[in-house]
Amino acid sequence: MRMNKRFFRGLSKLRHNKVAADKMTVEPILETNQVLSQKLELTARLVPALMLTNILLASIIFVAFASSSASDLRSVAYLPLCITSILAILFLRNSNVGAHNSHAENLNKKPRLIVSAISFGIGCFWALLPPAMTLASTGAELIIAFAVMGGVLSVAGLTLALTPALALPFIIPVLASCYITLFMSGTLQGLYLATGLTIYISMVLLVSLNDTRSKARGLTIEKARAKQDKTISLLLRDFDQHASHWLWEIGTDSKFVRVLDRFKDVSGRTASELETLTIPDLVAEDSGRLPALETLQHAINNKDSFTDVHMPVLVKGETSWWSMTGTPDFDKSGIFKGFHGVGSDITLQKKSDERIQFLAHHDVLTGLYNRAHFTELLHQNVSRLERYGATFSLMFLDLDFFKSVNDSYGHPMGDKLLIDVAARIRAVMPSAAAISRLGGDEFAVIFQQSLSQQQLREIAEATLETIAVPFEIDGEKLQIGVSVGVALAPHHGTRPDQLLRNVDLALYRAKETGRNSYCVFEAGMDSVARERRALEFDLRYALEGNELELFYQPFVNAQTNKPLGFEALLRWNHPIRGQISPAEFIPIAESTGLIGPIGEWVICEACNVAATWPEHLRIAVNLSALQFNKDRVVEIVSRSLAESGLPAHRLELEITESLLIDQPDDAIAKLMQLKKIGVSIAMDDFGTGYSSLSYMLKFPFDKIKVDKSFITAVKNENAAGDVLRTIASLGKSLKVQMTAEGVETFEQAEFLKDLAFDQLQGFFFSKPLRGSEIPALLLSMTNKTLADGYGKVVSLRSSAA
Ligand code: C2E
Ligand code: CA
Ligand code: CA
Repeated sequence: MRMNKRFFRGLSKLRHNKVAADKMTVEPILETNQVLSQKLELTARLVPALMLTNILLASIIFVAFASSSASDLRSVAYLPLCITSILAILFLRNSNVGAHNSHAENLNKKPRLIVSAISFGIGCFWALLPPAMTLASTGAELIIAFAVMGGVLSVAGLTLALTPALALPFIIPVLASCYITLFMSGTLQGLYLATGLTIYISMVLLVSLNDTRSKARGLTIEKARAKQDKTISLLLRDFDQHASHWLWEIGTDSKFVRVLDRFKDVSGRTASELETLTIPDLVAEDSGRLPALETLQHAINNKDSFTDVHMPVLVKGETSWWSMTGTPDFDKSGIFKGFHGVGSDITLQKKSDERIQFLAHHDVLTGLYNRAHFTELLHQNVSRLERYGATFSLMFLDLDFFKSVNDSYGHPMGDKLLIDVAARIRAVMPSAAAISRLGGDEFAVIFQQSLSQQQLREIAEATLETIAVPFEIDGEKLQIGVSVGVALAPHHGTRPDQLLRNVDLALYRAKETGRNSYCVFEAGMDSVARERRALEFDLRYALEGNELELFYQPFVNAQTNKPLGFEALLRWNHPIRGQISPAEFIPIAESTGLIGPIGEWVICEACNVAATWPEHLRIAVNLSALQFNKDRVVEIVSRSLAESGLPAHRLELEITESLLIDQPDDAIAKLMQLKKIGVSIAMDDFGTGYSSLSYMLKFPFDKIKVDKSFITAVKNENAAGDVLRTIASLGKSLKVQMTAEGVETFEQAEFLKDLAFDQLQGFFFSKPLRGSEIPALLLSMTNKTLADGYGKVVSLRSSAA
């Protein structure tokens, strides 16, 4: 484009110079050798006629004075004059005196000197005539003679004056001879003739010289113009043949004129077609209102020049992009003549620009917007909100179980799934929604139009529904879910960072609530999140600061109430906040990856403590599903057993069904290994997931711990009792030990005992205790429970609290 502009400027300058050449009027003309040569050429062309005139005039005198006494002298002059004239003609024909020659140095001076000499010679012969005739002529003959001389001089003046160097050698001797003769005659007639001749000759010379000047100037201008025309046409041709540029011109009616070949080629139209069109007529119809085109139209209307205006043009059914640069034309008197300019095809450049633009703003995989564009849009919406109060809302989507698809089927399958997910999301969103993929399995939607919370809830529900429908990819049926967080501006924030944090909190809450659900932000979530971040920070130092401690809660034989063992329950003794529940910090440990080292410490510590207990007591340790991510869990368990000396059969590991949902095969393999070592495996929180029964069949659990929510429900609902009865009988048939958690009352304990539960656990028997409190508990339970009944245990529980 820069080349284009530079070229264009050069072209305009040339055009400008051409006009200047036209305007050249009074500037002194420097005669170049080239001009001189042209003048010589002109003179040379006239010489034969001149010489013929010489001969004819001389012949008149020869005949007129035939009888005069001056005939001898006349003959002396006549013959050499004729011969010299003929020689002059021949010489000029063979020499190159007047040959057109553009190179000044080639202009030979020698022939010019010869021509001057001939001219002088002929002049001298003519100069002989006046004295000769005066000597022997009558008055009448003398007038004839001088009339002829006047003719000779004026002819010479008219023709030879074109080149004074040739004219003067002729004129001077003739004129001198005439004057001398006339003055010598001493007559009044002679004086009249001399005066008349002077006027006559002066006039002829004046006219002739003037003519010479204008002819010379004409030649100079013509020369300059020819040179410029040549340069311009060379440049134009070169430019017109240039691959990506062409020239155009429009007239006063804005329609193209003087259409060049190249323009016809690139536009795919004929010259006559183009001559009916204006520049805006070329613009592709579907391109809508382009600001650049308005600039162009404005420039044309105002007769202003315009530079590098990009416009889409329909060429043979396809859209090309042209860059147009133009400048208005005015004639000498300032009248507008149209525009001329240069165009270039920038389609390729435009396409690569568009691609770069696209990549800068879109996610390559799904074609949705990318994170960068999302951020940009968010800021735009926030400023629209600030300026015009235009409300908008945000939705964050995070896929559930996407990781397991990626892990079990590989990334290519994961990518295909993401493409399909993107298509489904697009289908349920309003058309004006801006959908982005933020990365991984996270998506974000900005609703620029103002939507009510109800409308957003409906969209969120539709999204959950559409994603819940199994995907079929490469013959595989894939079931995933999505969690959705929603925030509305300005209700939930007026700054981008605020909105982002709040919609993220809503999403997080949706994830926590259970997968495949949505949540609209609420004010309380904010402080919860702040709290959480602070805890996250502190938890990093909990292990090394010895802030973690295990508490132990007994589980008892349902029939005898004898303690069978203890469940290890983790506590965090925060230096400032006091004791923090695992329900609060275990999820943080899981999300930060701290669950690895913390879990390892728990297993190790639990084994060490249990090894000091009486041999009939077992220890139950809770394991997070995330501890199974790495191979190390089996190794850690084996090492802890070995180091503590605790027999494997005294260790029970409690897992939840989420372990079997996320990574079934891998987890089952590890559980099998643990079982092989001799460790028992219990399913914790049974009844809280969707499909506990089916998972119960996937792995031969040693023990099932029915969640406390069922036990609590027993009091109010008969249905809960029925469910418990069914679960208990199922356990019996599977030969799995059944444990009930969260037993708080005597009635519950009795009811569960009747349902043939094997083990019971809960505050009714004991709260979780410090390790140091266990001996006292054991003592009181073995010694007194049987004798004194439950009442004593209850009092024990109170003392432990
Ligand atoms: P969980 O495994 O279901 O543990 C039983 C929870 O019920 C304990 O809460 C216990 O204090 C509480 N509990 C026991 N009896 C009663 C009762 O009669 N009524 C009521 N309302 N609650 C009772 P805790 O200690 O707060 O532990 C909460 C959860 O944290 C545990 O639930 C377990 O999932 C997790 N957890 C605790 N320690 C660890 C650990 O070392 N590792 C892992 N991964 N998770 C742990
Ligand atoms: Ca447990
Ligand atoms: Ca439990």
